[in-house]
Amino acid sequence: MTFKELDLLEPILNALHTQGYTSPTPIQEQAIPKVLKGKDIMGCAQTGTGKTAAFAIPILQRLQTTKNTDQKRVIRALIVTPTRELAIQIDESFKDYGKNLKLQSAVIFGGVNQTSQVNRLRAGVDILVATPGRLLDLVGQRHINLRNLEIFVLDEADRMLDMGFIHDVKKIIKLIPEKRQTLFFSATMPKEITSLANSILTNPSHVAVTPVSSTAETIQQEMYFVDTENKKNLLIEVLNSNNIETALVFTRTKHGADKLVKILNRNQIKSEAIHGNKSQNARQNALNNFKNKSLRVLVATDIAARGIDIDQLEFVVNYDIPNIPETYVHRIGRTGRAGASGKAVSFCNTEEQAYVKDIQKLIGLTIPVVSNHSFPATGKVAAKKEQAPRFKKRFPERKKDNSRV
Ligand code: AMP
Repeated sequence: MTFKELDLLEPILNALHTQGYTSPTPIQEQAIPKVLKGKDIMGCAQTGTGKTAAFAIPILQRLQTTKNTDQKRVIRALIVTPTRELAIQIDESFKDYGKNLKLQSAVIFGGVNQTSQVNRLRAGVDILVATPGRLLDLVGQRHINLRNLEIFVLDEADRMLDMGFIHDVKKIIKLIPEKRQTLFFSATMPKEITSLANSILTNPSHVAVTPVSSTAETIQQEMYFVDTENKKNLLIEVLNSNNIETALVFTRTKHGADKLVKILNRNQIKSEAIHGNKSQNARQNALNNFKNKSLRVLVATDIAARGIDIDQLEFVVNYDIPNIPETYVHRIGRTGRAGASGKAVSFCNTEEQAYVKDIQKLIGLTIPVVSNHSFPATGKVAAKKEQAPRFKKRFPERKKDNSRV
């Protein structure tokens, strides 16, 4: 499936091409046609699945193809999300995918002075991304008028509940027109969330990315406990001592991927990275070189690796342990395909041990530990390491200012 087959407008297709997106993710494939038809959506998907684009792309297309009857810009789409980090990311996505359109988006969140946000709103916006508290504040001060709203997105509804925003959300719903399109996203569906969804959606289409939980028996899995600063040395040792011809190595960040490639190449291990900041050409070249074995190691971030189909991939390395347990299953599922045998090794530092627990719970087995290697963990915690939130644990990353965003 290609984005073109989803009947997207040329300027949007071009913007996606610039982003380096080659094909829609499963949630995008499911949601985009439905949103374009004007349907309400009940979406069960986690961050990392491409969920933002699943609503942002069709919203841009709908706003572009239906006219604003007002003379001046009015807020036609509102996205409410629980944290400022998510709000900023969503706004950036609208700007990226809509860069060839004339639509304007803006983001508002609490914890900062409101003046620049109010000025931005005065200049006129079509799409507003907001956290609940600041939205209500600015509506109360009449800086925001939601009368003309056509599309409402409630993002990460379960997290809203966890963070105590559910009352704010209910207040927001009372402020928006009853006749509207509503897109509802939640990673989990506890009772309260289902009943909230039922109360605000009209005849919704359900879209879900099926959680995966089993790992093929043909994949040999191993766990190495190692300090962060020794991971690179361990990788070199593992690649050399196991006579590994080719390996797919996963890192959590694009920056991490680039850094690792430099180190490997310096150590005569030919490698390249594929991730969102690389052009499609560069990614394709790297992939071709990897397939024809002129490249020994391909370092990839999760989304970039999606859709890579390489027969008989012998070796997968989780250089960083994923914070979403399902991602582990997806990653290692790239080896041992169709009954072929494969090996997946994971490098776990002190901070990542909680993720390993979640993974083992999901796959229902304890991953065998390799302890006879040259860089055993000392239990040292890395000095300053940006750590992704453990997915199962709720709102761990917002220690300050999580009262009212
Ligand atoms: P999200 O689940 O919305 O947080 O998206 C996770 C990451 O996937 C973001 O960095 C997006 O830029 C990226 N992404 C979304 N859709 C695609 C796609 N179709 N192809 C490649 N990357 C994508």
